[in-house]
Amino acid sequence: MKDITIAGNWKSNKTVGEAKTWFGDFSRMYEEKKLDLRGSTILIFVPYTHLYPLREQIESLHIPISLGAQSVSPYPDGAYTGQISARMIKEMADWVIIGHSERRKYFHETDEDLKRSVEKAKEEGLSVIYCVSDAHMPVPHTVDVVAYEPLWAIGTGKTDTPENADSVIAKIMQVSGIGKAIYGGSVTDANVASFVAQPSIDGVLPGGASLDASTFFSLIFNSITSSV
Ligand code: PEP
Repeated sequence: MKDITIAGNWKSNKTVGEAKTWFGDFSRMYEEKKLDLRGSTILIFVPYTHLYPLREQIESLHIPISLGAQSVSPYPDGAYTGQISARMIKEMADWVIIGHSERRKYFHETDEDLKRSVEKAKEEGLSVIYCVSDAHMPVPHTVDVVAYEPLWAIGTGKTDTPENADSVIAKIMQVSGIGKAIYGGSVTDANVASFVAQPSIDGVLPGGASLDASTFFSLIFNSITSSV
C-alpha cells in the first residue's frame, strides 16, 4: 500500500474558536474509530492566525495531523508590511502550500514570485506542496509534493476523471522530477477512493470537504481503506 497524503485546505474560513471545535470533533472520531494513520500524512492548511493555538491543541490531543500555511512571503524578514516570512511559519508549522490558483488569480502571484517563495520556504526547512493546473506549468525542482488542480474543478463540484488526473499527474512527475503528486478539485469522501486507487496519485487536496470534521474524517477513512 502506498503512503497517502491528504491535505485539507481551509482557505479563508473559520475563526480560531470554530477551528478548535473542528479539532475537538476530529479527535473524538479518531479515538472512537481507532484509525491507523501510520504511513499516511494528514495535513491541514489553516490561516496564519490559527497556527499557534491549533499547534498547542494538536499537541495536547495527540492527533497525528500536521499544520501548514497557505502561502509564504517571497521575501526574508524585513520591511515588507503585511507579509509572513518562512522563518515565522517554521516556528509553528512544517508545511506550506505555494502557488494555489487563488493566490495566482486574486493576489497576482507570478511564477517568479512563487519560485522565490519556494526558495525562502526551503531555506527554512519547510515542506512544500506546489500547485499547478496543468502539465505545462513550471514546477521548482525542490518542492516536496506537486498538486494537480484543474481550475474548472476547484470549488465547482466537478472533478477531473481519475484516469485523466492520473495521466496528467504522471506527466507532471516525469517533467518535474518530483516523486510525489496529489490531485485537487472537488474531492469528497464519496469520490476520494477513485483517485487514490490510481497508480500515480499519492493523495488529495480537498478544500470544501475539509471544512467539516466528520466529512474530512470519512474522506481519510475511505482513502486509507481503498489505496493500492
Ligand atoms: C482547493 O482548495 O485547492 C480545492 C481543490 O478546493 P475544493 O476541494 O473545494 O474544490
